[in-house]
Amino acid sequence: MKTRTRFAPSPTGFMHIGNLRTAIFEYLVAKHEGGDFLLRVEDTDQARKVEGAIDFIYKTLELCNIKIDEGPNNEGECGPYIQSERIDIYKEYADKLVEMGHAYPCFCSEETLEAMRKKADEKHVPFMYDGRCSHLSKDEIKRRIDAGEKYVIRQKMPKDGVSVVKDVVYGNVKVENSVLEDQILLKSDGYPTYNYANVIDDHLMGITHVIRGNEYLSQTPKYNLLYEAFGWEAPVYIHVPMVLGEDGNKLSKRNGDASFMDLYEEGYLPEAIVNYLVLLGWSPDTNQEIWTMDELIAKFDMNRISKSPSSYDIKKLRWFNAKYIRNLSDEDYLKFIRPFFTLDVSSKEEEWVNKLLLTYKDHISYGKEINDIVSIFFNDDIKISKENKEFLESDELIPVVIKTFHDELEKLPSWDIESIAEVINIVKEKTGAKGKLLYMPIRIKVSGVEHGPELPDELYLIGRENVLNRLK
Ligand code: GLU
Repeated sequence: MKTRTRFAPSPTGFMHIGNLRTAIFEYLVAKHEGGDFLLRVEDTDQARKVEGAIDFIYKTLELCNIKIDEGPNNEGECGPYIQSERIDIYKEYADKLVEMGHAYPCFCSEETLEAMRKKADEKHVPFMYDGRCSHLSKDEIKRRIDAGEKYVIRQKMPKDGVSVVKDVVYGNVKVENSVLEDQILLKSDGYPTYNYANVIDDHLMGITHVIRGNEYLSQTPKYNLLYEAFGWEAPVYIHVPMVLGEDGNKLSKRNGDASFMDLYEEGYLPEAIVNYLVLLGWSPDTNQEIWTMDELIAKFDMNRISKSPSSYDIKKLRWFNAKYIRNLSDEDYLKFIRPFFTLDVSSKEEEWVNKLLLTYKDHISYGKEINDIVSIFFNDDIKISKENKEFLESDELIPVVIKTFHDELEKLPSWDIESIAEVINIVKEKTGAKGKLLYMPIRIKVSGVEHGPELPDELYLIGRENVLNRLK
């Protein structure tokens, strides 16, 4: 049987990295086996629906180099791929379940349910629908439906015994059937619940492996009972632990940083985000940290997904992103960084701007960072900290280094990086200063700070006039 997986997001116009990681795992499981990856849009909660959300999902996955074999914008044979367009299908199968005795119409009103909830509260037990409508006679059901009474369809659960869910990550998970509620499958407006629709859709779409958040694990016995009722084979389940925020709490939309698009717009490369995310919960059998998509497809092994929750760590993501930025060709790097660079360079030569940006290729960890990091070249007001001032006064050689450097630079016929490097050497020979005593005074005097790119590059970019003025 061909391996088929699906990504089944709700169309909220937002994708947090936990969702994206699920999509990546689903894609890798399918592609590792030469299978198909589908997109199914779970929009039965119409209140949460956002205009343009489907295109947003396509765009996100495309940026991440995840190709959708079948979905709403490229239908295959199992469409529609949007749940709200499958309402008739859900009804058809719900009717079958009722016919077979695995489900029943329930006419209980909101008030009746509220009263049951209250009773449960008083007894300090969790509320569970008591199944009273499962005892209605066929005639009564018909009469009430004909009279236009509102109803939902509930699944009829076994009252004793144990269900076992086999999960790739969690092993065999046992659940007492007595805790399984006669859950709602179809709401009174005809819309399915997630707990019902996922089974119908996964079966009809030929899904062989279901990868999703572990919050669904405890519900999965109910899904298995539906598969059994229809005589269908259940998929392989791969429930993955959550990605927690840095504070140890669940990631949420409010945790803006954890949104893929926000990261992308800050200047994180999608390849780096994918690489980071795949290792968040999956460990290969090597120490390799940098992975191309093709390598991941070849190597991905679902049995190596971890049971313990992982935490989103922006520092680690930056580390990956910096690596990916460094690995870009100079040409690709300039294309990447240019849109993030927003300082005014209208009076500068193109060559100077490119040199400036390239000088920091090895220093930045995300696109927008470039503006802060190069601000020393756009600010004439150099501020030297107290510690650095103290350093400048800490050795008699320092004023000599600065003066010699200034005088030698003044003589320099051309302003280029090699000549500047040579002048530094001359100063070294003339003054006998080396290491920290040679470089630091010059750097602090011209930039205000003790760190920066290679000194000749930095001086070149600051420009002859500025350097000479600052050294005075
Ligand atoms: N719509 C569900 C969610 O976004 C999908 C879960 C699943 O993959 O089955 O959580």
